[in-house]
Amino acid sequence: MQHPCPQTTSLDPILVERIRTSRLLGADPTLVMHGGGNTSAKGEVVDLLGRSRQVIWVKGSGWDLASMEAAGLPALDLEQLRELRALEQLSDEDMVREIRRCLFDPQSPTPSVETLLHAFLPHRFIDHSHADAVLALSNRVGGEQLCREIFGDRVAYLPFVMPGFPLAKAVAEAVEAQPDVEGVLLHQHGLFTFGDSGEESLARHLDLVGLAAAYYQTEHDAVLAATAVASLHAQDVVPILRGTFAEYGHFVFDTRADGWILAALEKDGVEQLMQSAPLTPDHSLRTKNQPCWIACGGRMEGLAQAGDSFAGVAQQAIARFVEDYRAYFERGCAARGQRIALDPMPRVFYVPGYGLIGVGETVKAAAIAADLAEHTLLTKVGSRSLGAYEGLAELDLFDMEYWSLEQAKLGKTSPQELAGQVAVITGGGGAIGEGVARVLLDAGAAVALLDIDEELLAAAAARLGGQTLAVIADVSNEQSMGEAMEAVCARFGGIDIVVPNAGLAHVASLETLQMKDWQRLIAVNQTGVFLTIQTAARVMRKQGMGGSVVLMSSKNVAAPGANFGAYSASKAAAQQLARVAALELAEQGIHVNMVCPDAVFRNGANPSGLWAEVGPDRARSRGLNPEELENFYQQRNLLKVPVSAQDVGRAVLFFAARRTPTTGAMLPVDGGVPGAFPR
Ligand SMILES: [Zn+2]
Repeated sequence: MQHPCPQTTSLDPILVERIRTSRLLGADPTLVMHGGGNTSAKGEVVDLLGRSRQVIWVKGSGWDLASMEAAGLPALDLEQLRELRALEQLSDEDMVREIRRCLFDPQSPTPSVETLLHAFLPHRFIDHSHADAVLALSNRVGGEQLCREIFGDRVAYLPFVMPGFPLAKAVAEAVEAQPDVEGVLLHQHGLFTFGDSGEESLARHLDLVGLAAAYYQTEHDAVLAATAVASLHAQDVVPILRGTFAEYGHFVFDTRADGWILAALEKDGVEQLMQSAPLTPDHSLRTKNQPCWIACGGRMEGLAQAGDSFAGVAQQAIARFVEDYRAYFERGCAARGQRIALDPMPRVFYVPGYGLIGVGETVKAAAIAADLAEHTLLTKVGSRSLGAYEGLAELDLFDMEYWSLEQAKLGKTSPQELAGQVAVITGGGGAIGEGVARVLLDAGAAVALLDIDEELLAAAAARLGGQTLAVIADVSNEQSMGEAMEAVCARFGGIDIVVPNAGLAHVASLETLQMKDWQRLIAVNQTGVFLTIQTAARVMRKQGMGGSVVLMSSKNVAAPGANFGAYSASKAAAQQLARVAALELAEQGIHVNMVCPDAVFRNGANPSGLWAEVGPDRARSRGLNPEELENFYQQRNLLKVPVSAQDVGRAVLFFAARRTPTTGAMLPVDGGVPGAFPR
């Protein structure tokens, strides 16, 4: 027997088995996704006073089964939990408090709201999922009959009951009446299985789900095998939808446009089918109860060029969605009492000819909504021949979406300054680009890095983390930049912040400067800035949400250097372009400002490519050894400080967050160079 708090001693073998089999259950997205489902195990431990105690380990909220560890399976006093069964009623708030009181380690995450269900059952191991295949059978007219045909009396059957104390009691009673069952099927919710070992409980779970899946496998596979091609571009669809959310803040939009999704959306009757209730009420917290369906008379051909007519149809569809949602909220409040209204905007769009889109406050939330929408589409369309789909009744869904435990979380966390905003950084593989990206990511933005160098780009994106979008793009090529903005719109939904940062340098006197080097610098430093602002501004105009352009200018614009003509002239031209952009884009609420750094040699371990190229020549032209150069720049500024990529990033953040009504301004980040004081 082991101490209940896993961090103090080696782990109990039962807990080890539970961690291992929880991961196996969590590894299959058709069983559980994104924190869905839960598991438990029961054992015995010795407390600090040497007493033997009955314990249950239950999945903690915020943990994913797929990446389960000991800390995600907090230990609770099983006997105390079971004493609660004597109560007639227990509110959700009291239940959560009692569950927390029974934790051996009060620092643990709050165990699942289904903890009492796990505790009241006698079995050592319990697995719970919202498996697509089980829901495909149970969520339809005659669903229980169908399930009985397939599973027989291997499981007990229960109608939908809201998770919490009443469900825990109902499940315990059902299993006591049929002690030989391998599990319980909760209609329109999911499946529980039990076992003496983790292996047995999981094997039963997989077997029952497999039987359900086999029942409509051919139809399901046919949906996946079909394919169609998109007729709409992300830039003509998503920024327009995103703009309609403006009064509720910034949201990330995640597109899924696989061939089977496009084909499924074209099928007859699918619109009506997808307007039905979610597969399991858990989903309504992520996807709302209904998606927003946007179709132009069912025929999408030719719309790629007709952005305006898509906007008209989209606005109508969203207005109807909002109206319906508000009416549903009023009906729910009339039946259940007043609640705090959530925003009335959709979390899932289905757009025939384009794909499906998940919407969320963060990149992760948008991905979850999109994943759930994908599974819902496949499950509903892939099991149509089993009979009419029947989801939960509206009030049951309202109870889940407006659950007191969920309502209590509202307003408890303050969003990050750039939450839901999308930033595009060119030259993203370079030292300054990566430094800026780090600062914007830390402020909550979704970040797309553009760079022409595949290797540098991949390395920077890997260091920044998995949610960074890396797009290979040539800033001097119109088509390449159009495609890059298309990729950003498909991945994140639009653009709020643009940092034209890609830049080249070259050391040569005007008399020796070769034409090819002059043109190379003009192409990237000048034309590149023009194309970046142009292609991004077109997307921002469609959104109509304002935004921010922060040009990576240079100390050299105010104080040019000899033998640096191509750089100084092209950077000055870029700065003039930014000023013109400030004039032209102000009416749309887009701020355009300039950050003027001096001599950023590296971002942490990532050396500046620009300085690697020109450093030796610059050092020579100043009569220095290359290794003396960094110190030279530090000593020539008033504050005698090195300038880091993070420093530049913080200046970009100041403008990007639009903290002040400032546009057309330049901010030096150079430690103070009197010759470059803005005037
Ligand atoms: Zn559940």
